[in-house]
Amino acid sequence: MEGIKLIPSRVGLAHPHTFDERKNSISANKANLIILNTSNTHFTVQPLKTSPNPTPSMYSPQSELKWMEFWTKNKTFEKSVESRPASKPYIFYDGPPFATGLPHYGHILGLTIKDLFPRYYTMKGFRVERKWGWDCHGLPIENIVEKKLGFKGKKQIEEMGIGKFNETCRAQVMEYVQEWGKTVSRMGKWIEFDNAYKTMDNSYMETVWWIFQKMYKDGLIYEGKKILMYCPHCQTPLAKAEIQMDNSYKNVSEPAVFVKFKSKKMSDTYFLAWTTTPWTLIGNAALAVNEKLDYVKIKQGNEYYILARERVFIIKEKFEIVETFKGEKLLKEDYSPLYHVDSPKKGNYIVAGGDGVSSEEGTGIVHIASYGEFDYELIKKYDLPLHTHVKGDGIIQDGHHDWKGTWFKKADPLIIKDLIDRNLLYRQENHTHSYPFCYRCDTPLFYNPVNSWFVRIQSIKEKLLKQNTEINWVPDAEGKARFVNILETAPDWTISRNRYWATALPVWKCTKCTEMKILGSVKELQTHAIEKDKVPNHVDLHKHIVDEIHLKCTCGGTMNRIPEVIDCWFESGAMPYAAKHYPFENEKEFSKMFPADFVSEYVAQVRAWFYYMHVLGVALFGHAPFKHIVVSGNILAADGSKMSKSKKNFTDPNLIFDKYGADALRFYLMQSPLAQAQDINFKDDGVQEIYRKVILLLANTLSFYEMYANGNPHVNDPHSKNVLDEWIVTRLHQTVADVTKSLDAYDTINACKPIASFVDDLSTWYLRRSRDRFKGDDEQDKQDATRTLAFVLHQLSKIMAPITPFIAEEVHQSLRKNIPTLKESVHLEEWPAYDSKKAQDTQPIQNMSFLREAVRLGMEQRDSLKLPVRQPLAKATLYGHIMDERYVQIFIDEMNVKQVLSKEQMKDGQPSVELDTNLTKELLGEGMARELMRVLQDLRKQAKLNPENTITAYVETDTNTKEMLQPHGKEIAEKVRAKTLVFGPVPGNVSQQTECRIKDAQAKIGIALP
Ligand SMILES: [Zn+2]
Ligand SMILES: [Zn+2]
Repeated sequence: MEGIKLIPSRVGLAHPHTFDERKNSISANKANLIILNTSNTHFTVQPLKTSPNPTPSMYSPQSELKWMEFWTKNKTFEKSVESRPASKPYIFYDGPPFATGLPHYGHILGLTIKDLFPRYYTMKGFRVERKWGWDCHGLPIENIVEKKLGFKGKKQIEEMGIGKFNETCRAQVMEYVQEWGKTVSRMGKWIEFDNAYKTMDNSYMETVWWIFQKMYKDGLIYEGKKILMYCPHCQTPLAKAEIQMDNSYKNVSEPAVFVKFKSKKMSDTYFLAWTTTPWTLIGNAALAVNEKLDYVKIKQGNEYYILARERVFIIKEKFEIVETFKGEKLLKEDYSPLYHVDSPKKGNYIVAGGDGVSSEEGTGIVHIASYGEFDYELIKKYDLPLHTHVKGDGIIQDGHHDWKGTWFKKADPLIIKDLIDRNLLYRQENHTHSYPFCYRCDTPLFYNPVNSWFVRIQSIKEKLLKQNTEINWVPDAEGKARFVNILETAPDWTISRNRYWATALPVWKCTKCTEMKILGSVKELQTHAIEKDKVPNHVDLHKHIVDEIHLKCTCGGTMNRIPEVIDCWFESGAMPYAAKHYPFENEKEFSKMFPADFVSEYVAQVRAWFYYMHVLGVALFGHAPFKHIVVSGNILAADGSKMSKSKKNFTDPNLIFDKYGADALRFYLMQSPLAQAQDINFKDDGVQEIYRKVILLLANTLSFYEMYANGNPHVNDPHSKNVLDEWIVTRLHQTVADVTKSLDAYDTINACKPIASFVDDLSTWYLRRSRDRFKGDDEQDKQDATRTLAFVLHQLSKIMAPITPFIAEEVHQSLRKNIPTLKESVHLEEWPAYDSKKAQDTQPIQNMSFLREAVRLGMEQRDSLKLPVRQPLAKATLYGHIMDERYVQIFIDEMNVKQVLSKEQMKDGQPSVELDTNLTKELLGEGMARELMRVLQDLRKQAKLNPENTITAYVETDTNTKEMLQPHGKEIAEKVRAKTLVFGPVPGNVSQQTECRIKDAQAKIGIALP
């Protein structure tokens, strides 16, 4: 069916609706009445009835400082918390950062997410208490202090005295607190910053003791010897998770050697083993084979070698296979040790390594020493000697006497040379592999058998996995795949550190018997201490203090504290309890604060803070300590490399704040894939684009509102019937719905997108199309437009408030100038409800987008036909959609056509627009009149005239053109505010004049003040 509608045009010359004319037009003169004089060239102009508000507020990134001050002065944050009922809490845990470095973009990202959701839930009526915390302990700070003191290792620390060292750490740990405070408030993050908890507080450490004791009593903590990743500089074992956290592995190229172990049975036969750590050869305890693999004995020259059949290709020169057999046959065969190390236990024979020995690299024969996890398992299994020829400080202490005192990594070439000299090296080559380094001091790590305290992860693994299913991870994969994998493969957690600046482990051992005491509170320490005077109620639980306190054993002996301190991850994982000094205080409060509704950190924290929090939550309360986790990505420099201060490959965040404001930066981060745990290359241009396309567009919309909405006292939906108003209100409901649903799903990307596109629609379509309504003299229409815009801005400010708190406040306060009953701040407002029927009403949105598409197609045709919009056209035909008359009217205004036909049927299978380009004399005349108007407006502008100034206009051209223009004289005069329009010579003394073409004719045009 074909529907044809003929719509008469209402467009006349008094409607300067087209875009390029609007750009040149003087503002607001529809309110003036122009009266025709006796001659058709003389008009009188009356003065303006109203003038626009001359000083709209000008927004700039510096305006944000004004709102920062406003919030502080009015205690807006405190009010936002207190105005919500305590019975309706939304619990948020803020991961404590270190104050030992300046905040960077990574922190700013975290701070933003962790500000956004608390603000959102506050607006939704929840009470969201937010308290800052500081991470104070551990290697990060110890290494900084060591560097400052110029220390090379533990020896110097102990010479200085642990007490003095620890006090230096304490003095150093809060170094950048002020800078943090500045950044936190500059970026608009709301949190109780001043009374922050610190992991070094006595109360905090006491809770850590309580947790340790409780877990020990529950059988979840044990002491044992294990092969652990170990830093010989820091002289402490490190947890695998710590090393994997920021990827402390580096690709290194090192010598790999094929070593000949001489058989004791046949002196011309050697077992070939392969290793990338020659320094471990000194402590060789055994060789291991896979008993099920095939092995071969080959002959090369006068010697025989044994290796796995699948590895035989590593033998480059000519050889011959003399025998093939299963690995099993090699078991228990003896070989001569490379180096003699005294040991009461029997070693130097071949053991069964099972699947731990593969044919994927090396020779299929593995050299076993105490510096590997797999090795250590075999050493225990076969009761082999445990040679630890490298001391805890990384120095060789056994083997060849020349090597004693050598740094373990430096021993490699010495050993290789020695093996060559003794004809025990088959071959060497360079091998590139990934090797772990200490994430704090960059020293190469090695696996070292050390005594340690462990959390028995294996016994709660099932619970950890089960509780994880209760957590809502954003993005999902972080929890479903990554975290599950981390949990499934987690080893027991090493929680003791052979260091100084951390909570002391609360373990005392008797010097006489095997008795051991584990304390869980200061009170217990007071009860058992021998030196009772050293234990006041607020005793400091740092190592240097409690090491001086001894306990009395039941056997009568004295108990000493063990030297270790606790892993600082145990402390930050204890945050939900320790920050509240639970269970010593705040028991009731704590029960309301656990678990958290929301936490957020960047990806590396999945296996760190989230993991440790989860372990302690499940171990202590059988429950995950959080319900929703948002995982963010890494921010890289613009070129994709790591941001680095020394490379200066990024802009100081403070400059970004100055140039584009915190709102633009916040929005940029929140709309980026960072919010879905993806990495991004940070680009200043990206922030600039958000600044222009979101912040400035909104600010300009606001200043337009301020200019024309004098004294509007309403922010409620006026339910206007105007098609533009209807459309923008529908778009608003849709946007509020989208933003609400996205934020409910902790999805900031899809909360930002609809806001950006709404701001664009509001500014570049609604406002552009409504401009004349605001300036016009149809009071009802003007009021509808003003009130609709006020309503839209008010709702928009609320949904933007959590993401861009500053501009939201700017909008709110601007509306509030005329409506003092509005809340004191946008951040004290309720989250707006939306009309779900309206939000789903796609009709106005479809109509408008068809219309906008039709306009775009029409403009394209005008462009290609070189028909400026100033030139009215007789008719346009729209194919593919029957448009409601009200939309057609907008099309007419926008396209400057007299008549529109709209047909449901499509042309060539798609919606299209056909313009009637036949120009009648009348149409040409109108077009020429508009050209003239534009020239006259330009002259007015050059003369810097105000709308109040009237002029006399002169038009000197040929007779034909004059005839074409004359019928439009009234409209021309009205439009350019000419009291008199003279078609005749331009006098010499006019203030501005120009020569130009009107259509095809030469013209001389001038203006003068009457
Ligand atoms: Zn280290
Ligand atoms: Zn004892």
